[in-house]
Amino acid sequence: MDIRGLTKFSLIDFPGKISCILYAGGCNFRCPYCHNPHLVIDPESQPQLSDNFIFNFLKQRTGKLEGVVISGGEPSLCSALSGFAEKIKMLGYLIKLDTNGSNPDVVISIHKNKCLDALGLDYKAPSSRYMELTGSKIEDLVERVHRTISYAIQENIPLDVRTTVHKRYHSPEILRLMREELNALGVPVWTLQQFHPAEIIDNTLASAPTYSDAELIDIAKETGNHTRVRGLKGSFIFDS
Ligand code: SF4
Repeated sequence: MDIRGLTKFSLIDFPGKISCILYAGGCNFRCPYCHNPHLVIDPESQPQLSDNFIFNFLKQRTGKLEGVVISGGEPSLCSALSGFAEKIKMLGYLIKLDTNGSNPDVVISIHKNKCLDALGLDYKAPSSRYMELTGSKIEDLVERVHRTISYAIQENIPLDVRTTVHKRYHSPEILRLMREELNALGVPVWTLQQFHPAEIIDNTLASAPTYSDAELIDIAKETGNHTRVRGLKGSFIFDS
């Protein structure tokens, strides 16, 4: 498995679990606000962690950590993911997969193999603008993302759907439209994440005006249903 980063301890990335995070190299999207640009554009620039190193670490942490978040980049692009997840499972960990949703068949296969306990999915844009915002050329991209979400709901997989919000791409009208699409898919809870102006793919975004916390909370309230807001420090600043 092409893992290019490790966060050894997290209380927020696997809801309700103490976890570590593994970051897979490479991604098939180019979201302008992505704050892992090196991992996405030039994964080879980041030191690769060997399976040996990772599994030694995980063995040492059994009983201390409950879960492993496999994030990225986009981990579903790596053909070794399934076997990698199996080995993590054999150590007794719960697994959360963070994905952009572009490979539903991979998600389904890992779940059928009993190696998926939770799913995090970034919902990027309304359907009509999905390819534009992600820079993706996958023609059936929206269908794929929706299929990933629908599968998680149908199989009762704990699902964390979130959207990083920047004013340039996400007007209040667009966010309302996205909430309607998620409602239609049966997504109960949606998280709006404050844009983080640190290292990103499109540097012009860092100085472009975006929402204050208060403005984002007002938008979340207006979208109705269960829409919450995560602030820059990672904790929720609004939860309806
Ligand atoms: S935000 Fe996620 S999906 Fe988008 S480019 Fe970065 S890693 Fe890929």
